[in-house]
Amino acid sequence: MDCQIAQTLLDTYLDGELDPVRNLEIEEHLHGCARCLQSSSDRRVIRHGLKTESLYFKAPPDLQRRIQRSVRQAAKVEAPSRWLSLSWIKIAAPLAAAGLVVLLLVPFFNGPSSDELLTQEVVASHIRSLMANHLADVPSTDEHTVKPWFNGKIDFSPPVSDLAKDGFPLIGGRLDYLKNRPVAALVYRRDKHVINVFVWPSDNSAPSTAPIKTQQGYHVIHWDSAGVNFWIVSDLEASQLAQFADLLKSSLAPPPS
Ligand SMILES: [Zn+2]
Repeated sequence: MDCQIAQTLLDTYLDGELDPVRNLEIEEHLHGCARCLQSSSDRRVIRHGLKTESLYFKAPPDLQRRIQRSVRQAAKVEAPSRWLSLSWIKIAAPLAAAGLVVLLLVPFFNGPSSDELLTQEVVASHIRSLMANHLADVPSTDEHTVKPWFNGKIDFSPPVSDLAKDGFPLIGGRLDYLKNRPVAALVYRRDKHVINVFVWPSDNSAPSTAPIKTQQGYHVIHWDSAGVNFWIVSDLEASQLAQFADLLKSSLAPPPS
């Protein structure tokens, strides 16, 4: 993120209204940019100043009485018998209709689904792993090193397989945090593209696969299989990521008996 974008987003950031990825990007920028950090703290000072009590004045009792009196007089002049007049109905009828439309539409605009929120979280975690130079707690291409590393760190043992022979070498694993729980993150690479595979136990007993999603240039594929959630994310081309997903699925499938 450059300074110009950071400056335009600062107010939204201070209001706490940025999406998680943008939020992270601006925090990273503020870490490294003294000028933007300064204007961020200037804005905080101004905001705080505008909230102090010294800017609020209580009206003197006399002024208060005069205002109340003139409001009452104005209310008397506005004839009280208008309640059922035609002009009132003219206003009320469209309002009631609009209210009905809103009631009918609300179920369709209930904000992002839990799936969309999790997609955002997964993309943010992926970006964070690349930014903070914290790709792997256990950098290893050996599945027999990576899998046991998780023992005692999380309450399940993630399935790990190296796909180097198919052009997707395993490069390590780390602990991450999604949906308010620790998850296993397995890291693969295809050329210069990093692929994060987030794994944690699923509540769904029925296996399911979701269509590929794209967010901020990252592709996300997730599925559920044998009681395990898999979420994979990368900037790799969508068809290659889908190929990776298929390879991973078949490498983890139990051998035919
Ligand atoms: Zn800056």
